[in-house]
Amino acid sequence: MYSTKRLKFLALFFLLIPYFASPQGFELHNGDLIFQQACSGESVGNAIKNVTQSAGSYQFTHVGVVYIPDGKDSIFVIEATIPEVRVVSLKEYLFKKGSGGCYPVSVAGRVKPAYQHCIPAALQEALKLVGKSYDYGFVLNNDKYYCSELIYDIFMNANQGKPVFELNKMTFRQKDSDQTDDNWIRYFSEKGLGIPEGEWGINPGAMSRSKVIDMLGEIHYSATRRGSSNTIYGLLTDSLGRCVHYASEKDIVANKCFVCKKYYACYQCHNLCENHLLSPWPVHLNDSSQKIVLCGNCFREISYQAYSRDYVCPLCRKDFNPKCALHKEIYFMFER
Ligand SMILES: [Zn+2]
Ligand SMILES: [Zn+2]
Ligand SMILES: [Zn+2]
Repeated sequence: MYSTKRLKFLALFFLLIPYFASPQGFELHNGDLIFQQACSGESVGNAIKNVTQSAGSYQFTHVGVVYIPDGKDSIFVIEATIPEVRVVSLKEYLFKKGSGGCYPVSVAGRVKPAYQHCIPAALQEALKLVGKSYDYGFVLNNDKYYCSELIYDIFMNANQGKPVFELNKMTFRQKDSDQTDDNWIRYFSEKGLGIPEGEWGINPGAMSRSKVIDMLGEIHYSATRRGSSNTIYGLLTDSLGRCVHYASEKDIVANKCFVCKKYYACYQCHNLCENHLLSPWPVHLNDSSQKIVLCGNCFREISYQAYSRDYVCPLCRKDFNPKCALHKEIYFMFER
């Protein structure tokens, strides 16, 4: 069981492993966790960073769980945040501006296959807790929830009451010091709460390093390539233009919106990131001079005709996904 030695919030159970090379991209699934590192400038975020350790070189300050009710058109996240547990759109979750004026860094993780059977019940548990108050005091079993406590509880309840994640003894002391971090002294005194030093808990950093989690990679918002003036936008999971919605080996095509003239990984990404719906590009089938498709492998532009001829990039010979033709009307408007 637990070592009797006083553990820093996260003992060095696990060596740092370079989880984050994500050459294949990944789609978001139900039950995935999205860890976030607050944009610098946020005081609570900085206070958490000062006392915790996360997977890789991240300093996570928050975590929520992915909830996809039906189809990929609507990805939500359930999170315990101030003032209460809530369900938010993926867009709202990813694009929360910190006081530093920037967005958090978001990194996805997935529970290992042995625990994936818990996911449907865990999400049902999470939905039952929507509206519960935020747990400012970081206390277990008080009917209030902080971010990683919510995830800990819903997976435990879905696993017949057996914890899936391990608890650690919390510390609010600065790393390698016996001094309580100033930000935390201020935080707890403003709330009129005692400092739960040495109490059991779990923080997002510890959760990201749990042995039951595989870290999948970062969700980033654009991809560029040296030597190319082109950019792919979206909720991207690799540098080839794969996104949280479509990430098979062949999903490397980006399409251009006629309104904003930007290349997006997919229409859902476009519609999440822009304030207008993706407008299909007018295509004259007898004119192949317009280059309106971008290959995520070579980052070069090709025409609709070159793209659709045999669903292979004519410039780098990389295969495209022929199934994309099923929704070509979303991206192209065919004119005579
Ligand atoms: Zn657009
Ligand atoms: Zn997408
Ligand atoms: Zn290519």
